[in-house]
Amino acid sequence: MARLAQISVRRRLCHAHRVAWLLSGRELPTSKFVLHTCDNRACVRPDHLYLGNQSRNMLDMVARGRCYNAKLSDADVLAIRASGESSSVLARRYGVHPGHVRKVRRLISKPHVNAPGCFALRQEGGE
Ligand SMILES: [Zn+2]
Repeated sequence: MARLAQISVRRRLCHAHRVAWLLSGRELPTSKFVLHTCDNRACVRPDHLYLGNQSRNMLDMVARGRCYNAKLSDADVLAIRASGESSSVLARRYGVHPGHVRKVRRLISKPHVNAPGCFALRQEGGE
């Protein structure tokens, strides 16, 4: 996933899509987020931007399949943790980023999903 583009405005780093929103002549209340209809975080096309809030952003994320936690079922998580395959192979199989597979394995993501009778503790480092 592309990172949010940043540009310098008066020696201050700003998110480029927010600047594009303002340059298009629209208001930007401080309580609002500028969100992307195209899901490309680096995009600055004003017609691809809309105003929303954090909860709207989260709902859009799940609805468009950008939420890895929603993508993986508990069975997927257990299969990933039991697998000896590389994170890249598992990431391709489950349609997530390899970094997310590593987080699942290290119990940073989905720590509540444990094998029956198992009480797993979060592991630091390693895969
Ligand atoms: Zn776009």
